[in-house]
Amino acid sequence: MPKLNENYLNLKESYLFSEIAHRVNAYTAANPEKKVIRLGIGDVTLPLGSEMITQLHEGVDALASAETFKGYGPEQGYDFLRSAIVDYYCQNNVSIESSEVFISDGAKSDTGNITDLFDKDNVILIPDPVYPVYVDTNIMNGRQITFIDANEDNHFLPMPNYNIHADIIYICSPNNPTGAAYNKEQLKEWVDYALENNAIILYDSAYECFITDKNLPRSIYAIEGAKNCAIEFCSLSKTAGFTGTRCGYTIIPHDLKFIASTGKNLSLNAMWNRRQTTKFNGVSYIVQRGAAAVFSAKGMAQCRQNIKYYQENAKIISDGLSKKNITYFGGINSPYIWFKCPNDMDSWEFFDYLLNNAQVVGTPGAGFGKNGQKFFRLTSFGSRENTIEAMARIDKLFA
Ligand SMILES: *Cc1c(COP(=O)(O)O)cnc(C)c1O
Repeated sequence: MPKLNENYLNLKESYLFSEIAHRVNAYTAANPEKKVIRLGIGDVTLPLGSEMITQLHEGVDALASAETFKGYGPEQGYDFLRSAIVDYYCQNNVSIESSEVFISDGAKSDTGNITDLFDKDNVILIPDPVYPVYVDTNIMNGRQITFIDANEDNHFLPMPNYNIHADIIYICSPNNPTGAAYNKEQLKEWVDYALENNAIILYDSAYECFITDKNLPRSIYAIEGAKNCAIEFCSLSKTAGFTGTRCGYTIIPHDLKFIASTGKNLSLNAMWNRRQTTKFNGVSYIVQRGAAAVFSAKGMAQCRQNIKYYQENAKIISDGLSKKNITYFGGINSPYIWFKCPNDMDSWEFFDYLLNNAQVVGTPGAGFGKNGQKFFRLTSFGSRENTIEAMARIDKLFA
């Protein structure tokens, strides 16, 4: 009999989205005449821009003739895509090398798979509430996690505590689920702390394209010293609506080197290359063509248009909450609006209240960690019409 990885027994039952679906289905079965509006989704809804579609088609056509056919691609991704990403960073005044860029099928895989590079015995710091992937992938590997509180007191932006030593630190900014985003000074404190602890920061910048405030960093490498202590994960899922198309990238600076117990200097870039070439054969040429279009002037303008649409939805939601004096976070540099449940309700209690009285579906904060117990997440990824209608219903509810 195989001995199983019993760390899986330590995973909490992931009941968040199935429980939401269960409660919504029960409600609609009992109230078929009521129109339910879903603002709980973490998925985009607008179609891909025409430039991305054109390039995806070009990619398909290239496979149809022997002269342009593509088989296995280059290990880290096609040059045309990696250099487009280097240029994109350059526009934000961050300089990286294309050999530091690894193309993948998304940030979820990479943030999960990166754990392969680290021993079981590490102090892992993860903020609570959090994107559950960071937690579950470490539990699967049998690691202990030290949670740090993100709460109202620290505006959901926890800062380093020098009394705790860490080896690996997860940061997601702008944050899912709270929408909070670190400024440069705050991120600099994390970089300083990581350098002091000889730790590594795993930085998830999946929502960087939602940053409108020019002073906020869109990459951790905008912070001095970060190349010596941080890996950055990004994705075209939210930037370009690639949640179904699948493409992301991870940046591992050559400066990231740590000394092994044998005394040998190990490069994380080289280790990740080895890990990826062993377990992953890359993203299809077709998708990489579509991804490169995202970084073209025309493609990016189309992506910005979709992002703007979601940002306007976010404004409708946050204005509606402001009007009701409901405390909220996010919504400006993020597609998420994270607010305190009115009347001191618990997040599941509020979920039911909102479903039954306004037929609006959101995500209970408790699903992201204990500090989400009294909070609720609405997303701007719905249609304009539904967003307006949902906020009108909420407006009536809290007269
Ligand atoms: C949506 C999201 C991603 C993107 O994941 P993909 O696998 O690239 O679709 C990454 N991190 C967070 C926190 C997210 O919410």
